[in-house]
Parts: sequence; C-alpha cells; structure tokens
Amino acid sequence: MSSTTVRVRFAPSPTGYLHVGGLRTALFNYLFAKHNNGKFILRIEDTDQNRFVVGALENLIGALKKMGLDFDEGVGVGGDFGPYIQSERKALYHKHADELINSGKAYYCFCTSERLEEVRQKQIAEKRPPMYDRHCRELTQDEIKEKLDQGIPHVIRMKIPLTGEVNFTDLIRGEVSFSCKILDDQVLVKSDGFPTYHLANVVDDHLMEISHIIRGEEWLPSTPKHVLLYKAFGWNHPIFAHLPLLLNPDRTKLSKRQGDVAVEDYLAKGYLPEAIINFVALLGWNPGSEKESFTLKELIDSFSIERVQKAGAVFDISKLNWMNAHYLKELSNRDLTGLCIPFLKEKNYDTSDYDKTLKIIIAVRTHLNFVAEVTNYVDIFFRPSVVFENQEAEDLTKTETSKKVYLSLLEIMNSESSIGKENFKGIIKKVQEQTGVKGKDLFMPVRIALTGEMHGPEMPLIADVFGKDECIKRLKAVL
Ligand code: GLU
Repeated sequence: MSSTTVRVRFAPSPTGYLHVGGLRTALFNYLFAKHNNGKFILRIEDTDQNRFVVGALENLIGALKKMGLDFDEGVGVGGDFGPYIQSERKALYHKHADELINSGKAYYCFCTSERLEEVRQKQIAEKRPPMYDRHCRELTQDEIKEKLDQGIPHVIRMKIPLTGEVNFTDLIRGEVSFSCKILDDQVLVKSDGFPTYHLANVVDDHLMEISHIIRGEEWLPSTPKHVLLYKAFGWNHPIFAHLPLLLNPDRTKLSKRQGDVAVEDYLAKGYLPEAIINFVALLGWNPGSEKESFTLKELIDSFSIERVQKAGAVFDISKLNWMNAHYLKELSNRDLTGLCIPFLKEKNYDTSDYDKTLKIIIAVRTHLNFVAEVTNYVDIFFRPSVVFENQEAEDLTKTETSKKVYLSLLEIMNSESSIGKENFKGIIKKVQEQTGVKGKDLFMPVRIALTGEMHGPEMPLIADVFGKDECIKRLKAVL
C-alpha cells in the first residue's frame, strides 16, 4: 500500500459517552492509519437532531484524548477537508441530493407518516418485510412540481435498482453480496432538511478522500446502499472493513445490562488507559503470537487488518481485570498511591499522613484489579481499634495457645526499638521458638489481633503500617 493513500476516519454520533465498541473502532482506525503512515480523522455525525445530547461532543473528545488517541485532522484539530461536523455541512448534502434527483437516481417522496405506517402494518400482517412501497417513485414531473409548489412536506429517497445484486469486497469478511430486492428505497434527506446518516456518510467519505472505512459489523447492512450511492454519484467507493461484533460472555450483543459499556465508567473506576487500550486491541484482533501485553507503539507496529477475525469477540471483564492488574503492578508505589488517594478521599478515609497512606497501598496493592477497589481493603487500617469480622475470629483470640502467643509477642515487641516489615518475620520466628506454636496456630491469632480479620494483606506489611506502638496497643487490647 502506498504510504500517502491511507486516510481513515472515526465517525461517531455523539450519544453522550464513548462506548467500548466505539473505542475499539477508533483504535483500529488509529492503528491502521499509524501503521501505514496515514491520517486519522475525527468526523462527528450529528445529523440526527432527535438524539442531540448537550456536552456529548466534549465528553467524546475528552475520552478519546484520555485514551491517548490523537487525531491528525478533524473536530478540534482542523484540516483541509472541514468542517468536520456534519451539522455544519448541510448545504453540501443538499447539493449532492439535488444532483441525484436531477440524474434520476433519487426522488421526492411526499407520503405522510400515517400512510407509511399503514403500509407497514399491512406488510407485517402479510408477513412481508416492511419496506417503502415506492408509491412516489413514478410520480410525473408535473405532479412533483405541483406538490413542491404547494409546500407539501417531503423526503428524498434513493432509487434502489429493482433487480440485480450489490457486490463488494470487505477486507475482513471477503466477498459480500446483497440482493437489491431486500434493499429499501432509503431516505437520503429527511423532511427536516437534514440528511440521513447514509447520504452524509457517503458524501463525506468521498469529499474527505477516505481510503478505508473501518467500522463495526452493525453497519454492514448499510454498506450495499452506500455502494449504490457511490455508483449513483459516479465515484469509486473506499475499501471496506467491518469489525466483528462485541459480545457479552453469553454471546449476545454487548449490552449495558450485563456491565459497563462506557469507557468513561472504566476510567472513573481507575482502569488505566494503557490497559483498556491493550484489552480493546485484542477484541477481534490477534497478533499471531502468544504476546498479550502491548504498548500503543507496539500495537501500531504489529497491527494488520488481515489478523482481524470475522467471529464476534467476547468482552470478558475478567480478562480486562487481569490486564489492568498487570499494568497496575508496573506502577511505582508512589504513582499507585497518587492514583489511590482520590478514591480514598472520596470514601472519607484520612489520607493526610502520606507515609501511612503509602504503606497501606504497599500492603494492599497486590489485591487490586482496578484502583477503585482499594477502598475494599483499607478499612482495617483506619479503624481506631480492632473489629472482629465474625465470632470465629473473636473466639480464636481467646484460646490458650493464642494467649501464649500474644504474651510472648508482646514481650518481644516491647524489646524491639521499632517494628516494621524488616523485622516482623524475625519477631514471629522468636515467638515460635519461645512458644513452640507454629504455622496457622501462630499466624492466625496474630493477624486477628492486629486486624480483626482472618485474611488480608501480608503481615509484615500490616505491621509496617501500624508501627510498634499501635501493634502493642492492639495486642494489649485482645489480651
Ligand atoms: N455515525 C456512525 C456511528 O455512529 C458511523 C458509522 C460509520 O463509520 O460509517 O457509528
């Protein structure tokens, strides 16, 4: 592929948030562009005024920025093919719709919504696929003129050939063919004067010199209409590549009901952008090797459309968690603490003692899949005194063996100048030597005395957070 030809676009309709499927589309376009020294363009498809959401555009751009996907051209960046917002390009669509009317490839339709509904109901009753019955397709020039003069509301529809097939090659799906019989005379311009997605999308992809259309499989049924539109205009169409659907683990289409689908929700929970990108890159693409961990740069180097699969890709949250945990492990203690503090503050944990907070994070960090989870593990460090998690825990502190352990531990701790992760194991060893108690019988009572719980972070790290005085205070309390 020549290095100057690749121009791809991410063309979202601003719905208020960035869907993980949208991110996957944006990412694959980005990777394809960067891998081929091409341009990555952001175009906003906002011609459906009913779906207008305040602030949606800003959210979308903000989320893409946080994910590290930079555009070469488009909304917020500029470029030679603007404006990049479809609502600012209305005149262009009208001009092109008129062209199709004049060449007989499109026609005015004056049918009322009541009539269309009647037709639809009748078709449904007759078990036929609901489609426009082409009532206005054969109106005479005089009839059309009369209706236009009367100001009767109308749309513009595409004249789909009555017979034949539409064929095109898809980089992922191979040869694709649709019979014209199943294609509706698609509305191109709505009665409010706005173009439909189909017209605007085709006109823009052509005028913006898009070389490859990489988008989700849900758009595949629209593609034959687009191919016919390109033909009607006398244009070559870009190369198509339809990405596999994203699925829930039960293989239904990915839906909000089974978990979060907004990228912003994952960011808000403290998933790292790098981890999300790495995870999303593997939704339908594979590198052809065992390697699973990729930086954005590595993804650019390895990406190829040929390795995108046809079959739906399952969005497996446990894999995302695993991936994110992997990225969290790479962070320094201080960086991770910095990320945790806002989540702790939010739940009213006192983080004013930075060193203590740092030690807490060191103690709990191996448990974290994502940063927000930190608040699940820190209670033990902030309670003024031990709260037993259950009766079993409390009972365990009262056995003869436990008492023996506590007394010995108290004595040894008192003799140490400080207590922390460096000497905690040695202290426990001494207790074992002194009391003859070992293993679980030794560790469990100590853990419960310090935290009230039977499971949790490593003991030396817990001791490190509390220090000598607090450890002794807690031991005395159980005794
Ligand atoms: N506006 C469409 C969307 O919301 C774009 C589909 C396409 O890429 O053609 O996804």
